[in-house]
Amino acid sequence: MERTHTTTAAMKHVFRGTFIHSTQQTPVEILEDALLGVNADGKVAFIAKPEELNKLSETFGFTPAEVTHLAQHEFFMPGMVDTHIHAPQYSYAGTALDMPLLQWLNTYTFPAESRFKSLDIANEVYTQVVKRTLRNGTTTACYFATIHTDASLLLAQITNDFGQRALVGKVCMDKNSSLKHYKETMQESQEETCRFISELLNKKYPLVKPVVTPRYALSCTGALLGQLGAIAKNNHLHIQSHISENLDEVKLVKELFPECTSYTDVYHKHNLLTDKTVMAHGCHLTDEELDLFRETGASLSHCPNSNISLCSGLLNVRNVLNHKVKLGLGTDIAGGYSASILDAVRKTLDVSKVLTILEPENDVLTFEEVFRLATLGGSQALSIDDHTGNFVVGKDFDALRVNAAAPGGPIDIIDCEGPKVLLEKFLNLGDDRNILEVFVAGRRVVPFTYQVV
Ligand SMILES: [Zn+2]
Repeated sequence: MERTHTTTAAMKHVFRGTFIHSTQQTPVEILEDALLGVNADGKVAFIAKPEELNKLSETFGFTPAEVTHLAQHEFFMPGMVDTHIHAPQYSYAGTALDMPLLQWLNTYTFPAESRFKSLDIANEVYTQVVKRTLRNGTTTACYFATIHTDASLLLAQITNDFGQRALVGKVCMDKNSSLKHYKETMQESQEETCRFISELLNKKYPLVKPVVTPRYALSCTGALLGQLGAIAKNNHLHIQSHISENLDEVKLVKELFPECTSYTDVYHKHNLLTDKTVMAHGCHLTDEELDLFRETGASLSHCPNSNISLCSGLLNVRNVLNHKVKLGLGTDIAGGYSASILDAVRKTLDVSKVLTILEPENDVLTFEEVFRLATLGGSQALSIDDHTGNFVVGKDFDALRVNAAAPGGPIDIIDCEGPKVLLEKFLNLGDDRNILEVFVAGRRVVPFTYQVV
């Protein structure tokens, strides 16, 4: 007998079927015909073999009839982590991909983001981006908002309402020569960051936290970078920014910060490189800079769609991993045009193969490794892997229920395929039609239950 969304006092859900996830040791581990229980706190209570059903039902207080059985071609995988996405830029995602970074920011980004002074615009766009990313299987997102504190707080509220796990950053920038009204003074930026942090923490959202967000070295004075480093340190907060995305940018940073030995050193000198820092891109980092990332525990967000779309560069992920630097995947909406981490998975594999075409000794990434980067790797990059990222007893149940053969979907199953083939097909060919349900901390958030009033 099948029943969905079991609710008992003790257990929120008990599932029986295939579970696919990553561990530190194994990029793809497949648990076939397993039982997994999710307790009332949304955490994985047990993972066991079906023979243990009777004993488990007694211990955890559920009846065998309450078990939800996955159908053929279905499996659970961990929710995907988008380690770098600009929520306001979703308004023009899929357009404006015709110029390099610095011109792109001045021509498209700053004018678009300046409109988020309006809470009506913010509400409309932020609701759409949260819904779209959740439908695409992003259970955790690390968002840039804009310089506007109240609109940034609204983004945090919307992610909380829809049940997405998120880090949300009010963008800080006290330099902008192209659009004079889209910047703050250093004092405004500092005060508004403190207001943003305290108001967001006061909401006590269980899954949504603030992240200190200097836009990047070219948009901030050294004084502001130093203030933000201190704020993050004093409040033990996450930090996000951009680094070494494009060669013109790298050159300008070198000119503006002559006292620093490298772009990475600019952030390091301002206390912005910690084990809770995630930096987007890093296409042009030197090996010495990667060493500094490893020493500080800072991580990289690899955004291959954006790197290609803006002709920024090709990050050698293999080299980053060889340096033991943590790395997750990002969409970088709207420099990247797709709001799906599945697209980031494919573009990561493409870039790795292009590097191998250019340099045959490059050790190409496997789809299993990139699956790990999209899930556990992203959690590690955001330093939240102690409570999410894979199926381990005691961790939150952040999961996608995937049907590789969903009717009307993009995948044809020709033969009766094993679970690893179903995973590979889903990663390469799948989309939101294959994602039947999305769970965050044990709560089913897709199909949507939250209604905007
Ligand atoms: Zn970005």
